[in-house]
Amino acid sequence: MAVTNVTIVGAGVVGLTTAFILSHRRDLSITLIAKHMPGDYDIEYASPWAGANYWPVGAPGTLLQRLEKATWADLDRICREHPEAGIHYQDSRIYGREKDADSTTGKWMDELGRRDPWFAGVLPNFRVLEPSEVPKGYDWGTTFTSVCINTPVYLSWLLGQAVKNGVVVKRGVLTHISDAAQLHHSGASDITINCTGLLAAKLGGVMDANVFPGRGQVTLVRNEPDAMVTTSGTDDGGSEAAYVMQRAVGGGTILGGCMQHGEWESQPDLNLAARIMQRAVDLVPSLVPKTGKVTELSVIRHGVGLRPMRKGGVRVERERIDGGWVLHAYGHAGYGYQSSFGTAREVERLLEGVLGEKARL
Ligand code: FAD
Repeated sequence: MAVTNVTIVGAGVVGLTTAFILSHRRDLSITLIAKHMPGDYDIEYASPWAGANYWPVGAPGTLLQRLEKATWADLDRICREHPEAGIHYQDSRIYGREKDADSTTGKWMDELGRRDPWFAGVLPNFRVLEPSEVPKGYDWGTTFTSVCINTPVYLSWLLGQAVKNGVVVKRGVLTHISDAAQLHHSGASDITINCTGLLAAKLGGVMDANVFPGRGQVTLVRNEPDAMVTTSGTDDGGSEAAYVMQRAVGGGTILGGCMQHGEWESQPDLNLAARIMQRAVDLVPSLVPKTGKVTELSVIRHGVGLRPMRKGGVRVERERIDGGWVLHAYGHAGYGYQSSFGTAREVERLLEGVLGEKARL
């Protein structure tokens, strides 16, 4: 059997999931190289900062919707079969307000907040809440079962699975995407997979001007909520969000957040942190059962991550650069986990196209 050498650049959830999926193939020899790895916390590395859960936002008929839909079965299976991966089921509640329709968060949550979303037929237990179940100040609500991921545990699990299946992992910083080929552990590779997230905006040979940061600030606490909850908006400005989700296996509870387009600031804004915590307590009183007050929150840390946004949406396509094939998979904004397996399988489909063409030469 002919073996093709592949270099994957990036060890975020997109690069690691792609490595995990492709590592099952015996016709590939894979090196994964990255500047940041699971265990690192850095403003250039989005994946550890994510909530992370599966709350679909792709509009029907879009590539994103296809990727999200394709991802659910894998997350569901890993949740059932691999408790050590750090994923667990949680009930979700989404509350909507008419007045948020045109805000940044309102547009971001548009599909998630619908009363008839496409995922009603995918996620278990979907139903529209009775008016009596919707808190004061909101116009409607829905509920369904989804998953929440402990990102440090899950990223390390993905890395471990890929390594177990033969992927060679290296640290390195590329200045040009064409340099990836010679960084393969054999000294040369035929295909590069570009999973560089936000840094696709700065990487030679790619320099994608459509990529920009969507700053998200979170507070991680020890308190436990009774469900994952979010809203279509807040009264603190159109870019501020309110969400609560509890990570699996002792990962704490993430309180969010915001969606600040074009902002690169890596340090938490403590005024924003105070608003995030107050909104979380108002939205999910079960976080603070003794006093109902913010002071009952036990803070582990405040954090900031930059979502790899992209005008035109996620990029999963092939391109010939300097005579070599590059398969791009970046620009996953606020949905890298919930579209990860769909993306990895789409990359595999592109790869099979390239392999087929090579075989016919
Ligand atoms: P990254 O995780 O940024 O990884 C990029 C990788 O490429 C890194 O390893 C980096 O070192 C490497 N790299 C880049 N350039 C180079 C180079 N030149 N040389 C070598 N290596 C390089 N998504 C969800 O699905 N659900 C959620 O609930 C959710 N919540 C979020 C909450 C917050 C606050 C934030 C910030 C994001 C959230 N997201 C969520 C979005 C999700 O985190 C991202 O979409 C995802 O992490 C992007 O993954 P990635 O692999 O593309 O990029």
